Amino acid sequence: MIIIKLLSVCGVSSTGKTTTIENIIKELKKRRYTVGSVKEIHFEGFNIDDKGTNTYRHSKAGANPVTARGYKETDILYNSRLNLEKILYHYTQEFVLLEGIEKGNFPKIITANNTDEIEERLDDTVIAISGKISNKIDKYKDLPVINSIKEVDKLVDLIEDKCFEKMPDFPEECCSACGFSCEELTKMIIKGKAKREDCIINETNIKLFINNKEIEIVPFVQKLLYNSVLGVVSELDGYKEGKSIKVEVGS
Ligand code: SF4
Repeated sequence: MIIIKLLSVCGVSSTGKTTTIENIIKELKKRRYTVGSVKEIHFEGFNIDDKGTNTYRHSKAGANPVTARGYKETDILYNSRLNLEKILYHYTQEFVLLEGIEKGNFPKIITANNTDEIEERLDDTVIAISGKISNKIDKYKDLPVINSIKEVDKLVDLIEDKCFEKMPDFPEECCSACGFSCEELTKMIIKGKAKREDCIINETNIKLFINNKEIEIVPFVQKLLYNSVLGVVSELDGYKEGKSIKVEVGS
């Protein structure tokens, strides 16, 4: 099973976000981790595919996604904004760094020029401050301020210590089996008041895979699926209590 750890670096432009991400990636690679990244683009008119290209014409004709395969690069183009979960279907790396994605259940590093910019983004998911302000201060409230150029070792030690397996992101009404919402539990893990294992979604005797990719299902649906499958299969010849059951559904 692939365990992906997420880390987001956020801050307004010209605070050192990309430099911070770049230095973290290099150090993680030096430590032999596999690393992917996702960059949020805050520009409405953004698109990579120019009007008139062959891939643009495929897309306009209705293909979605469209893949452009070159000798050195492969670009898979979707014609809509995907949520993070769907983007991560393409990733199998140990760390995925998010640049500019602020909302979500993952640890964050804020880059800033001044303390006002820190305050704008400060919440319980923040593990450190970096960027240009790290030339002026080395601590903000209870958070370390770490310069990614001069002290990348220290920054990545902290990342190794604080990042954990990607959390689910269910609305509270779908799951609160741990006694909290996914967001609340994430914040508690980051603050050292809970553990990643306190999310009990994976402690299940039923797993669902779509296209070989494991899909997280809330305890209520797990129970429903488990009882339905067991209800039918236990009536069949060959059923043995306690043995595992595998069902495959073709398209
Ligand atoms: S058990 Fe896991 S999926 Fe359910 S609310 Fe808690 S953190 Fe979210």
